[in-house]
Amino acid sequence: MVIVTLQRDKCIGCNYCVEMAPEQFQMSKKDGKSVLLRSTEKKGFFTLKSYDDSIFEACENAQKACPVKIITTKKI
Ligand code: SF4
Repeated sequence: MVIVTLQRDKCIGCNYCVEMAPEQFQMSKKDGKSVLLRSTEKKGFFTLKSYDDSIFEACENAQKACPVKIITTKKI
């Protein structure tokens, strides 16, 4: 299982995560911040749990590219 989190309120809207993992991230037209697709929110942290391990690499690249380090990716 792959678990991805996004601390959305700190997003600066640079779009790098969308470039790295377009199937998991999208920019919001409303506030210009990143949206982690199919995630659930708890206290400002958005979490995606997926049984599709093939998304790991793209999400890890998004984590590395994020300049404010608000994306985490792990495989369990
Ligand atoms: S890479 Fe980070 S700061 Fe940039 S849009 Fe994605 S979440 Fe926001």
